[in-house]
Amino acid sequence: MSCLFCRIAAGEIPASKVFEDADVLAFNDINPQAPTHVLVVPRRHIASLNDLTDEDDQIVGEVVRRAAAIAKTKGISESGFRTVFNTNREAGQTVFHIHLHLIGGRAMHWPPG
Ligand code: AMP
Ligand code: ZN
Repeated sequence: MSCLFCRIAAGEIPASKVFEDADVLAFNDINPQAPTHVLVVPRRHIASLNDLTDEDDQIVGEVVRRAAAIAKTKGISESGFRTVFNTNREAGQTVFHIHLHLIGGRAMHWPPG
């Protein structure tokens, strides 16, 4: 198994977990870009948003709703937070297992760089 986030999901590589259940895992980004920077991932390997099928609708919904729930526990629901899926080269995707960045705890700019 070569995928980094599959290995984290399998417990082969340590991570600073903030949530896990049978389908979804969330852990702190190793290189945080804000006071809160959590990655929310499905346990099942999906390389990018380009690979989603209708069978993935439920897991994508779980990932997004989990990000919102974690934002609430972090106390940033009201102040605001950003959620980002990077896809492929020009968006800067470096890990090819879908992950939702949950970023918050500071003011952010738009448009993003
Ligand atoms: P992306 O560039 O959208 O593919 O995001 C990949 C993210 O994974 C980056 O923000 C990295 O800092 C983060 N990352 C890489 N390796 C690890 C790791 N071992 N544990 C936690 N986060 C990681
Ligand atoms: Zn994977």
